[in-house]
Amino acid sequence: MKTIIKYYGKYTFYIIASLLFLTGEAVCELQLPELMSKIVSDGIGRADMGQIWHFGWQMLVVSLIACVCAVAVGFFSSKVAACVSRDLRSDMFKKVMDFANEEYNKFSVSSLITRSTNDITQIQMLTILFLRLIMFAPIMGVGGAIKAVEKSSGISALAIVIAVAIAIVIALIILALAVVQPKFMKMQKQIDAVNQIANDELNGMLVIRAFNTQSHEEQRFDKANKDLTDTSLFTSRMMALLMPVMTVVMNGVMLAIVWIFSYKIENIEQVSDMMAFMQYSLQVIMSFMMISMIFIILPRAVVSIRRVSEVLSMNISIKNAEGKDKPTGVRFKGDVKFENVSYGYGGDAYAVEDISFEAKSGEVTALIGSTGSGKSTIVNLIPRLMDATKGRVTIDGIDVKDINLKDLRDNIGFVPQKNTLFSGTVASNIGYGLETPDADVLEKSADIAQASEFINSSADGMEREIAQGGSNVSGGQKQRIAIARALSKNSPIFIFDDSFSALDFKTDAKLRMALGEEMADATVIIVAQRVGTIKNADSIVVLDDGKIAGIGKHEDLLRTCPTYLDIAKSQLSEEELGL
Ligand code: ADP
Ligand code: MG
Repeated sequence: MKTIIKYYGKYTFYIIASLLFLTGEAVCELQLPELMSKIVSDGIGRADMGQIWHFGWQMLVVSLIACVCAVAVGFFSSKVAACVSRDLRSDMFKKVMDFANEEYNKFSVSSLITRSTNDITQIQMLTILFLRLIMFAPIMGVGGAIKAVEKSSGISALAIVIAVAIAIVIALIILALAVVQPKFMKMQKQIDAVNQIANDELNGMLVIRAFNTQSHEEQRFDKANKDLTDTSLFTSRMMALLMPVMTVVMNGVMLAIVWIFSYKIENIEQVSDMMAFMQYSLQVIMSFMMISMIFIILPRAVVSIRRVSEVLSMNISIKNAEGKDKPTGVRFKGDVKFENVSYGYGGDAYAVEDISFEAKSGEVTALIGSTGSGKSTIVNLIPRLMDATKGRVTIDGIDVKDINLKDLRDNIGFVPQKNTLFSGTVASNIGYGLETPDADVLEKSADIAQASEFINSSADGMEREIAQGGSNVSGGQKQRIAIARALSKNSPIFIFDDSFSALDFKTDAKLRMALGEEMADATVIIVAQRVGTIKNADSIVVLDDGKIAGIGKHEDLLRTCPTYLDIAKSQLSEEELGL
């Protein structure tokens, strides 16, 4: 709650302006019945046309002022609401950008999307309503009540009518609240569910078609959709029902007033009093209704406020160490060292345990092991996509946790295992990490990554369109663009997580050769499945089930490390093994 409230601080001026105009509007509204009763008593009652014109003009002016005030209130309150929700959205986006693995796992992507759209819209609506009513209703309620007493000609039965009407209004609202409220709470979750399934299905379109599960997926979506529809129909119906019931109450009040007055009225003054009294009592009842409306909207908005502040107040686990907030633009030599590092993805068991090895600059260090042996986990620790649970990772002897995050990541060219291209062009993707992409750099990176051939084969070349997620290029082409993207940063450390697997052997070999020539000084860390890819590495780290099974060169490992020998045997012929 507090996290959200501070967002309004910046717009205090607009809030105050809106409240002032609201007060103006309420005061004007309170004048109107008074003026009307004057027209009746002084104008019509005395057949005095002059008086009718006199008060008529006054009514017109007061109405116009009220109108201007109402417009101003609308302007300022909308401004506050729109600005606050803009700030919330942008802060939420920034926050989510800083999320590490751990935080992402706490929310689903679809929930994050609902939170930054629908939930913020709820807050926006509440803000407008709140600013509209918060001053208006009390002024109208109290002011109306005072004026009504003045006009009641001392009839006490009238007070009872109003009291009963207000009691009925409140009872109805409480009833509606009790029935509808639990549904409102459910609604946000159901919106999450619909988004989640829609998201799943749109992303998995190809799989759904290939497995012919359209009808199953349709049912799944239909169910979520129907749940949401049922809930919102129910709540809308209840709310819709409330309106005519309220109208009945209002008209009942009018009827009762006329009926009670009918016993008393002797002259035109009392008729005009009655008319004014009717208006004022309506204003009083209306103000109670408005306040109750807030109670109906509030709980749903409170759910939204909670959901939004949950994201905003999330503790970011991976952040700059104290005093390292400013990037210094350092360039490291690039010696990466793991010292007894363990990492677990929540739960008790470590995914990787007691990992110690060194990747020196100017050398190629390879990680090999079966799937799930922890290779990706290890390399993700270097750019701090996760933080080591135990032990430490250092670059040039400095713990990565003590390096400014921007500096750290600027020093690493990373090709993740699950790489993504962004919609744009080949050039915009390769130059993604650069502030000012230079055509020569892009070309050279593409050359080393062996991507030039297919880039130049299309008429558009570097300007070839890339669709969202890189869906219009092949797996191997996507990998090569991702490699070029990492290379274009020309950083001292390069990490390739299984980046060569979608390449044919020839391209794989050519790429490694070009890498060796062009990146001679860099620290290159290659995660691979194929022994052939890493045979010539300066040092090979063999992983087995999250632990290191051996470190050394290809020939040594063949002799000393049974795990490596097994992998090698399954891939290479006897001659290639040289045994
Ligand atoms: P590799 O890259 O060698 O195939 P990973 O490093 O991806 O292996 O995974 C190592 C282990 O950690 C596996 O057992 C895997 O199931 C687990 N793991 C990987 N990512 C996650 C995650 N985000 N949450 C929980 N467990 C994970
Ligand atoms: Mg992996």
